[in-house]
Formats: sequence, C-alpha cells, structure tokens
Amino acid sequence: MRLSRAFLPTLKETPAEAQIASHRLMLRAGMVRQTSAGIYAWLPLGLRVLRKIENIVREEQGRAGAQEILMPTIQPAELWQRSGRYDDYGKEMLRLRDRHDREMLFGPTNEEMVTDLFSSFAKSYRDLPRNLFHIQWKFRDEVRPRFGVMRGREFLMKDGYSFDLSPEAARHSYRQMFVAYLRTFARMGLKAIPMRADTGPIGGDLSHEFIILAETGESQVYLHRELLDFDPLAESPDYAGDLTPQVEFWTRRYAATEELHDEAAWNAVPEADRVAARGIEVGHIFYFGTKYSASMGFQVAGPDGSPVTPEMGSYGIGVSRLVAAAIEANHDEAGIKWPDAIAPFKLAILNLKPGDAACDALCEQLYAALPDDAVYDDRGERAGAKFADADLLGYPWQAVIGPRGAAAGRVELKRRATGERQELSLDDALAKLRG
Ligand code: ATP
Ligand code: MG
Repeated sequence: MRLSRAFLPTLKETPAEAQIASHRLMLRAGMVRQTSAGIYAWLPLGLRVLRKIENIVREEQGRAGAQEILMPTIQPAELWQRSGRYDDYGKEMLRLRDRHDREMLFGPTNEEMVTDLFSSFAKSYRDLPRNLFHIQWKFRDEVRPRFGVMRGREFLMKDGYSFDLSPEAARHSYRQMFVAYLRTFARMGLKAIPMRADTGPIGGDLSHEFIILAETGESQVYLHRELLDFDPLAESPDYAGDLTPQVEFWTRRYAATEELHDEAAWNAVPEADRVAARGIEVGHIFYFGTKYSASMGFQVAGPDGSPVTPEMGSYGIGVSRLVAAAIEANHDEAGIKWPDAIAPFKLAILNLKPGDAACDALCEQLYAALPDDAVYDDRGERAGAKFADADLLGYPWQAVIGPRGAAAGRVELKRRATGERQELSLDDALAKLRG
C-alpha cells in the first residue's frame, strides 16, 4: 500500500473521549471510527488486524476439529421463547419487529439458534460428536459501552458449540477447546491465562475465562506467577488423544477471577509467586450439559434406540476486543508495537527524500519484493512525521531509506518492539524480513 494513495486517516491530537491507551491509539492510527455509541466502522488498517486475528482463530478451531458455519445476525424471538431466555435477557437484547409485526432480535449469542439448527439434522448417536462455530457480529445493548471496541455494543465474536453423547465426551470437547484457545492466543503473540470462572447466565458447572493481563483490564484476577512463563506452542496437541494432562498442567496452579477467588487457596501460594493484577477477558468457555438441548427438545436415538439428550458446551472469543487487548499489552509512549502475527503490515518503507533517484529506486525495489505486506511511505512529508507515524501505527519493521544510504545501496532496518537498528544491503534486509 502506497501511503500517498491510502485511506489512513491518522489524528495528530489525542481524542478527548478516549480513556485508555488502546482506544486512543486506535483512533489516532485511523483504525476505527465510532458511528454511534459502542458501534464502529472499521477502516483499512483496523480491518487488516481484525482479519488476521479472525484467521488465526479459524485455523486453530479447524485444527481442533470444529467446523465453520455462518448463522445470521437476526434471529426470531420464538427460538428464545422456547429456551426461556427471551424475557431473562432483558435490556441488553436489541429487539425488532419486521413488517409483518413478527418479533425478531439482533443476536447477542447463538445457543438457541445452533441447537435448533443442528437438531433438525442430527437424529442418531452417529451424528455426534460435532463442534460448530461461526465468526459473526453480535449486538448487546451494554449499559456502559466504553473503551472503544473493548466493550462495544456491536462486536465480532467467534462462538462455537459442541454436542456430545455423554458428560465425559462433552468434557473431552471442552478440553479440546481449552487447548485450542491456549494455542490461538499464543499464536497472536499474546499471553492469555485460563482462569476458573463463574458460569453466569449461560449456566452449567465448568467454565474458564482466558485473560490477558493489562492495567486497564476490567477484571481483577489472581494467579501463580509461573503461569506467565509457560509456552502453549511448545508442543502440538493430539486433539483425538487424552488432553487431560495439558489441561491439568494449566489448572494445577492458582488462577481465578474475582468472582471465584478463594482466599484460603490463594494464601497457600508462596507470597513471591502471587500476582494480583487487572485483566481483559478475551475468551470464555463453558460446559453446561443439557440446559439448551433439554429446554428445546433436542434428542437423538442412542445406540440401543432409546433417546439421548445431547450434552453441550459453548466457546466464545472476543475477536474485535482482541484488537484492543493486543494494543493494551503492546504499546509505548510513541504508539503501537504489533506482535508480528497480527500486524496490519509487516514493514513500513520510509522514503526520507521522495524525488531523489536513488531513494526512489531502492524503495520501489523493496516494495516490489513485499507487495502485500508492506506500506510504502512515499508522501511528501518531513522525515520526522514519517518516523512518528510509523511508530504510532506500530509496524514490526521499518526500513528507513535516505539519500546517503541509498547511494550506497543500504537500508536501515529498525525493529519497532526493541528500537534496535541495523544497516543492511537490500538482500540482507529482505532475508531478515522473510526469515
Ligand atoms: P464480559 O464479562 O466482558 O461482559 P461476557 O461474559 O458477557 O463478557 P461472553 O458471553 O462470554 O462475554 O462472550 C464471549 C467473549 O466475547 C468474551 O470473552 C469477550 O471477549 C467478548 N465480548 C463480550 N462482550 C463484549 C463487548 N460488549 N464488546 C466486545 N467484546 C465482547
Ligand atoms: Mg464471560
């Protein structure tokens, strides 16, 4: 992308309405724009990050055996009347009427719809287990939308649903998602710690929230320090095998949100290992048994012909919230420091003197080598403005090309995260960027 032609409306001033760094930086970097309270348009740079996050989620869901579908945003009220949640959900649900005066709603979640959908096809024990997910916009009329896309009213969520024949099989599905979530967040360059959590209005008896530590997080959390040192990508899981050891490894050490905090267990953690911090919930998984299958009359014929009510779990990831959470966890005074895997572009090419033949030629060569993953700052701006924008927008690498270096065929490569700089030939710079 050539910046001279890009739609990248950065702001010089700090927007007054933004209280936390990620919100400020997303507005300043021209990633999103609020169109109503808690509702955002995604601009090109923000959308690229959103899509990268979405794709990592999609790949890891697929690896764990879940299949993607796409359910609509608008749902009939009748589904929610069947489960009994239509009245309980209260004012957070956006209720609508169509021209025939039928009651509809903008989905805040999809347990009812997926149960209805799947139950119309699954008739036999052979149709189970299955795990279905979609990545779709949700609407929740939050009392206090705030912090930008961190707590929006319209937001993008991955929600998945598992259907099993027995509680033990359902616990296996739960463990598959537990492990898939660890990998998903780690691949984004984020440390998300699984913590015992309350099952809340979804109900059920087993639940974990995945939490990224950040000072501005809305949850108070307590955890064993060692959990911050483990690498979920160290081994690749066998999803068909027994995942109990992996889950036990992560749940053996203390980690809980405020709602389930247990003072006695906490005091048993050596003092030097206790971390009390704020955190951002980026994922939440539940095993809730037959709550929806029973209320919605979903049964399959078991192996001996007698009816079985499937056991279910649901698994959410805050895809749009993750964009903000990643920034909360990765920024400094100058701007964003994107983890490589979710950066909107890998490289910014800063031409310090457009019009200088050597600068232009070297920049074009570098840009041609990475056409899809580089932004080329070819604007007629001062060098200082280009440095500031590249730091603000947080591309993992900057290639700084000025007249003196260009004449010698050299590129200055800067790593945004560490500030480290190196002067390299074009080939060495490319090798480093591709490596
Ligand atoms: P929270 O406790 O933050 O209100 P929740 O428990 O209501 O979230 P879930 O129903 O578990 O959320 O939804 C799954 C995921 O969707 C959450 O883990 C979170 O990352 C994300 N999410 C929930 N509400 C919002 C929101 N208003 N804006 C952005 N993301 C959200
Ligand atoms: Mg939750």
